[in-house]
Amino acid sequence: MKSKNDTAYCGIYCPDCIHYKNKYSVYAKSLKDHLEAIAFDKYAKNKSPFGAQFKNFEEFESVLTALAETKCNHTCRTGNGCSGVPCKIMECCISKNYEGCWDCSEVDECDKFYFLEPRCGEMPKNNIKKIKKDGIDKGMEKRDNFYVWQK
Ligand code: SF4
Ligand code: SF4
Repeated sequence: MKSKNDTAYCGIYCPDCIHYKNKYSVYAKSLKDHLEAIAFDKYAKNKSPFGAQFKNFEEFESVLTALAETKCNHTCRTGNGCSGVPCKIMECCISKNYEGCWDCSEVDECDKFYFLEPRCGEMPKNNIKKIKKDGIDKGMEKRDNFYVWQK
């Protein structure tokens, strides 16, 4: 049985998200702290043929910081949005006092899902349709794969 708290307003199932309670943030934070402690940035910035493969270290640092900071310990519903940030879909549902978009009759034409589409495709709207038909628990048991590359 899938709990309502795990199902976001947009129809995604939060525990399927790559950021949810992930392990990489812990590893990234540990590596970031270690590299800072030994001032690896100074080593990388120093122009020398030896170690030239580290010339893009600053870019790597920014990605490492993003990895360290994108852990989501709460679901959308219990943590107030993705990584604690509400989106327009969530705000729309709350303003209309909807439990989720499955209470809405304008899902097909709704244009608020565009930011989910590159990675999730039609999954959120497909899940919403399944919830409309069978309710949250049964509908989410038949949910789509989270990411388009998981098909
Ligand atoms: S913040 Fe928006 S996109 Fe993220 S899970 Fe909640 S409703 Fe979906
Ligand atoms: S208009 Fe309907 S489908 Fe679109 S975000 Fe609001 S509740 Fe969801």
